[in-house]
Amino acid sequence: MQDAAVQGHEEAPAAGVTRGDCIVCYSAYDLTQHLPRRLYCGHTFCQACVRRLDTPAHEQRRIPCPQCRQSTPTPRGGPAMLDLDLAAFLAIEAEREPSRVDPQPHAITRQPAGLRLPLSPQ
Ligand SMILES: [Zn+2]
Ligand SMILES: [Zn+2]
Repeated sequence: MQDAAVQGHEEAPAAGVTRGDCIVCYSAYDLTQHLPRRLYCGHTFCQACVRRLDTPAHEQRRIPCPQCRQSTPTPRGGPAMLDLDLAAFLAIEAEREPSRVDPQPHAITRQPAGLRLPLSPQ
């Protein structure tokens, strides 16, 4: 036990706190090399790490989960064919457009277009 009296004490990252980072390589998910790929066990890692984890075992390749050790059979098209983690994926897209112009930011339904046509002088 140690008293954290010193300011700027670096805390160890707790598991499951940051949803936007791969827990293996600590990279933030993005839409290219670090796409969030979800294994069958429900854990999500970036595509680069999933590619590294993909190991050939006889005829069936498998991806062992670094978190729970459960193996996911590699899809026929490779790790890139695994399901995207939609929650993480949408979080990436939201971060890409932080200042989106939206008159009703909390509106769930959209008004049908065409009701408010801009009035042109002629
Ligand atoms: Zn990673
Ligand atoms: Zn797992």
